Amino acid sequence: MKNCLVVDDSKVIRKVARHILESLDITVSEACDGREALSQCQSGNHDVVLLDWNMPVMSGMEFLQQLTATHSSRPKVIFCTTENGLGHIKAALDAGADEYVMKPFDRDTLESKLQIVGVL
Ligand SMILES: [Mg+2]
Repeated sequence: MKNCLVVDDSKVIRKVARHILESLDITVSEACDGREALSQCQSGNHDVVLLDWNMPVMSGMEFLQQLTATHSSRPKVIFCTTENGLGHIKAALDAGADEYVMKPFDRDTLESKLQIVGVL
């Protein structure tokens, strides 16, 4: 069974993502900011990270940079953004994100992104 770390400061988004991912037979763990996500990535092995951009304590971008700098084999990263954050997509892909998804996302969209990065 594949597992996904959902990183978002919004409890509602984490809940929606969990619901969708579990319906795709993916095990879910959650982190509410980049720092917590980083420590979870150090102790566990996740297949994919669903990553929010704007979070307190440590942003998605900072998380991505540190993850890439410290992990030679790292999980796939799907970066989540809103329509207002379209300008961040290039920066996120340049920093090592494998794919991106627009919020709010639905099951079909998330499923196709997971297929693109090879998790499904
Ligand atoms: Mg956020």
